[in-house]
Amino acid sequence: MNCKDCWEKLDRYVDRELTDAELYEVKRHLEDCPHCEDLYRLQLNLRRVVKVCCDQGAAPEHLRSRLRQILF
Ligand SMILES: [Zn+2]
Repeated sequence: MNCKDCWEKLDRYVDRELTDAELYEVKRHLEDCPHCEDLYRLQLNLRRVVKVCCDQGAAPEHLRSRLRQILF
């Protein structure tokens, strides 16, 4: 797995929506790649932000895509 593959799956990795094999691949990549691990932590923080916004009735999808544009 390269970084691009990892980024594409990171979202679903955080949500635990990948297959076991994919989870394993991403996990292994994160262990070897500090840069992607940073992104992973960022995604986790993002989840918290989105959840707060969600509870307050904001549009989380919109916010998420905005944040993605800023982050990537
Ligand atoms: Zn990477």
